[in-house]
Amino acid sequence: MKIIVTGGTGYIGSHTVVELQQDGLEVVILDNLVNSNIEVLDGIEGITGIRPAFEKIDLTDRPATLDFFARHRDAKAVIHFAALKAVGESVAKPLEYYYNNLNALMNVLSGMRQYGVHNLVFSSSCTVYGQADVLPVTEQTPRHEAESPYGNTKVMSEDIIRDLMKVQSEMNSIALRYFNPIGAHPSALIGELPVGIPNNLIPYLTQTAAGIREQLSVFGDDYNTPDGSPLRDYIDVVDLAKAHVVAIHRLLEGRNKKNYEYFNIGTGHALSVLEIIQAFERATGVKVNYKIVGRRAGDIEKVWADTTFANNELGWSAKVPIEETLANAWRWQQRLGK
Ligand code: NAD
Ligand code: UDP
Repeated sequence: MKIIVTGGTGYIGSHTVVELQQDGLEVVILDNLVNSNIEVLDGIEGITGIRPAFEKIDLTDRPATLDFFARHRDAKAVIHFAALKAVGESVAKPLEYYYNNLNALMNVLSGMRQYGVHNLVFSSSCTVYGQADVLPVTEQTPRHEAESPYGNTKVMSEDIIRDLMKVQSEMNSIALRYFNPIGAHPSALIGELPVGIPNNLIPYLTQTAAGIREQLSVFGDDYNTPDGSPLRDYIDVVDLAKAHVVAIHRLLEGRNKKNYEYFNIGTGHALSVLEIIQAFERATGVKVNYKIVGRRAGDIEKVWADTTFANNELGWSAKVPIEETLANAWRWQQRLGK
């Protein structure tokens, strides 16, 4: 059974391709490689023994995208990861972010509708909740106005999918709202490939531990949290990848209750930045040189998921302990070297 994976050479996409293949599904990756590397296919093949089909296409190229769907009309579902995702860059380049992320989605949906590929899993984000008033956030928690153009593309994308599903009753979709994906495949054959100076905590931390960066800045210890540093729900990337396989089966087997559903994909547990550093040191025996500095503009204080709905409805839950996730991230960093 063929599944189209857009953005499949990216960080979360590549881990999901592995889980799909290990589940016996056939994968076709579409990616323009704007933020990934073709060698990721070697890593996937190294893990599963199967090299996924790959096509280099820019999803903002509508004729090329429609042609792709015409050739893959036998596919049963699409997992749409492809998007630009750097929050800070999106503030500096809003038009580029809206153009890429929204046109890519609309071209995918057009291709699906035109060629009868009826099932979609979409990568959304807990960013749609902003700083929620009540924690943890459930799927009923109201979405807040997005704090960045990137975040707004997720809100708008969810709305585009919801509105289309209202009139295309033969189509089905699930949006997965990821919390903070971290870690790497335990084989260390695939992982996150940050370009330039990382913005996210874990790649910055592992690069500091590896001596590539001198010091990790902890952005603030004066928040209203137990140790003063911000709280997040860090989800292992392999656990996250498995949620996509579960979502795909829910759609293919018609177990979805509505033709547009959305789920929180997190662990349900909050960890502070300082707790992450301690867990990393425990897991690896490597000390992290860090310094508490001022807050980062735009950061929210705390967010974590209520995963009851995802756990009960999808029959999925996060499994990998945080130390193991951080040890995998460290193994991947060591493989990348300096
Ligand atoms: P990533 O950058 O590693 O992967 C995205 C892939 O999409 C890249 O391989 C890139 O080359 C491709 N791409 C981008 N624009 C494209 C286009 N126009 N045509 C074809 N390919 C294109 O990012 P990721 O971390 O794997 O994220 C995957 C998805 O999950 C994204 O939609 C992202 O917004 C979402 N998400 C990520 C996080 C996170 O922290 N990583 C959190 C929540 C949601
Ligand atoms: N963070 C930090 N130093 C860094 C990068 C991030 O202290 O160099 C903190 C950041 O303030 C936030 C948490 O780590 O509280 C997670 O940040 P990340 O950018 O990874 O994810 P997001 O802000 O999107 O939740």
